[in-house]
Amino acid sequence: VDAVTVTILGATGSIGTSALDVMARHPGRFRVRALTGHRNIGLLAQQCRRFRPELAVVADAQAASALREQLGAACGDIQILYGEDGLEYAAGSGADITVAAIVGAAGLRPALRAVADGGRILLANKESLVMAGALFMDAVARSGATLLPLDSEHNAVFQCLPGNFSRARPVDSGVTRVLLTASGGPFRATPRSELEQVTPEQACAHPNWSMGRKISVDSATLMNKGLEVIEASWLFGIDADHLDVVVHPQSIVHSLVEYVDGTMLAQMSNPDMRTPIAHALGWPERLEAGVTPLDLVGLGRLDFGAPDHDRFPCLGLAYQALRAGGSAPAVLNAANEEAVSAFLDQCLPFTGIATVIETALECAETVDLTGIDALLAVDGAARRVARDAIARAGAAQ
Ligand code: NDP
Ligand code: MG
Repeated sequence: VDAVTVTILGATGSIGTSALDVMARHPGRFRVRALTGHRNIGLLAQQCRRFRPELAVVADAQAASALREQLGAACGDIQILYGEDGLEYAAGSGADITVAAIVGAAGLRPALRAVADGGRILLANKESLVMAGALFMDAVARSGATLLPLDSEHNAVFQCLPGNFSRARPVDSGVTRVLLTASGGPFRATPRSELEQVTPEQACAHPNWSMGRKISVDSATLMNKGLEVIEASWLFGIDADHLDVVVHPQSIVHSLVEYVDGTMLAQMSNPDMRTPIAHALGWPERLEAGVTPLDLVGLGRLDFGAPDHDRFPCLGLAYQALRAGGSAPAVLNAANEEAVSAFLDQCLPFTGIATVIETALECAETVDLTGIDALLAVDGAARRVARDAIARAGAAQ
């Protein structure tokens, strides 16, 4: 049989490297079509030498020549492209599987391009569903693409849903509720009075997962869970009233589905992204992922609790945006990206992230998103409001 061709958008990131790690365990089964990075040219060069893609994409012309130089003779017939056009070309290069693992709004256009191609999309870039859920799911329906979630919670839900699950009418499948688990992040037990002072390094030191910096901060504010609630509503066609969050510090139960007969199905595994990645790469088959099996007796116990909305207002803001619908989640996402980046640059205190998002949501009128141009206008306006709020917060310090 022919090898399955795979394109990885965001190959140099945490998800991208885990995906390549799983693929390397199955030589002959997968062949890399395209790898995209942005600034990490050293790592992309290493990946190109090892996986021999047909195509590699980087941020700009300078990065492209740096990659060519690093590869030297090893460049061989690897085509090197750059910029947004290069990304779109890679996303539309007709691979059987495209892993969408660019971080943030930058991942939207390439993900939509891959969806239009109609293959299998493994979605890690949750921001694109939060920004453009309706447009994204319409595009999936139109092209007939197979959309599989890589996010561990959504992959868990996918595994716990019945085979005949209907996205349009989940209740008919007997599903009454979806519960997303949250680790609670590095500040789960931090008193409110200390949150003002926490540093980017503390925020990025997640107790259970090793991830990129942006999603690590999102996990610390619980905005990651908020984005995931919105992501789940689009992926599974479930409204806010049927989506709950439960704090589970061990990150062993990755999410649960409740049924009308009282059954609750959970997916469990060690917190290692190679499990959901292997699931989606191999689906409907199961692939070996290099992951340590669960030792239940060694674990001894699993704990569950309610999220603290007082200390972590971002989760409530995400529910608010989901309920408002239309452009509100796009505003939430844009303001969050600006606020997180300001926090990482030490221009905004940790507790300012929620304040900036709240301001952006208050200032924006909720409209219907008719297309990608309308979306980009909303995104741009929300970023301007957020940057003003960040500048005011900085001036007040
Ligand atoms: P990383 O920061 O580790 O990686 C991001 C990737 O995107 C890198 O390859 C980076 O390239 C590339 N990139 C960054 N900016 C741009 C840009 N403007 N244009 C093109 N490419 C760009 O992030 P993660 O892997 O942690 O996360 C990726 C996505 O997956 C996020 O949406 C996140 O929410 C989601 N996700 C991540 C999980 C995890 O465990 N890490 C779990 C669930 C979801 P370079 O580094 O070369 O500059
Ligand atoms: Mg997740």
